[in-house]
Amino acid sequence: KLHNELQELKGNIRVYCRIRPFLPGQAGKQSIIEYIGENGELVVLNPSKQGKEGHRSFKFNKVYGPTATQAEVFVDTQPLIQSVLDGYNVCIFAYGQTGSGKTYTMTGPDGATEKDWGVNYRALNDLFRISEVRKTTYTYEISVQMIEIYNEQIVNSPSDVLELMDIGLKNRASSSTALNERSSRSHSIVTIHVRALDHKSGSSSRGSLHLVDLAGSERVNRSEVTGDRLKEAQHINKSLSALGDVISALAQKNAHVPYRNSKLTQVLQSSLGGHAKTLMFVQLNPEVTSCNETISTLKFAERVS
Ligand code: ADP
Ligand code: MG
Repeated sequence: KLHNELQELKGNIRVYCRIRPFLPGQAGKQSIIEYIGENGELVVLNPSKQGKEGHRSFKFNKVYGPTATQAEVFVDTQPLIQSVLDGYNVCIFAYGQTGSGKTYTMTGPDGATEKDWGVNYRALNDLFRISEVRKTTYTYEISVQMIEIYNEQIVNSPSDVLELMDIGLKNRASSSTALNERSSRSHSIVTIHVRALDHKSGSSSRGSLHLVDLAGSERVNRSEVTGDRLKEAQHINKSLSALGDVISALAQKNAHVPYRNSKLTQVLQSSLGGHAKTLMFVQLNPEVTSCNETISTLKFAERVS
């Protein structure tokens, strides 16, 4: 009960941290993750700092270590998905530097089979499965929309589920470096709208689920990038900090929530705050060379939790 009250106070914002494993070929590398506790504690070792300074601890709602499976992660996400059918608006984000596992968590690896499916597929699957179970009491209308935000511009593709899956598959088939690079510099939002019609009372309710694979949060070195790259980096910076400002304003129950500062927060405005539920997956790369990025990712996460 206390936990529920706390969640209520925090405006229903949850932060789950996920550490990706070392990839094939990286075996034996040193990890900067020193400790993972059962209750969301995490200690990060910064090898460039001595003594106490080198150890930083953080606490989130959950922490998943490198061996956590997609199914294990989804178990803790599932109740949020189910609440969409009960009329809630839910936003699920993946935040982190490029290569930290955002797309893995949200979609899965390239060519995923059912066991490796990410949150997106599992969520859709659940929505259809539960709506089938409840069909004698409710009729559900489910529609899917996909939006990409690149340089503060919206690319919109409304479609039905099958078309959307098709688009997803085509993107996979052509997952060239160029496409991966572009996807790491744009925000991709899959939105699922659900309308529930109650047969008995004749009343209807609406819920929505936004699944957001954010652009990579890495800082670019201003002395190294110019032109288009610099512009992209500035847009990403601006929108990620606008998102951080919105979520931390909500977490602190501030009267003013600055939704208007980026396309991302404008698009999601009606689904952030109020009775909406928010889950942020904070993705970490365990490599020593990523240490500074990992610390700044964790600071972002601390600010919104
Ligand atoms: P991002 O979307 O943040 O740039 P990706 O999701 O593309 O990162 O992950 C980078 C690489 O790491 C990919 O090859 C992906 O399959 C792999 N990877 C990420 N997370 C995991 C995980 N939990 N288990 C196994 N492989 C992972
Ligand atoms: Mg990605």
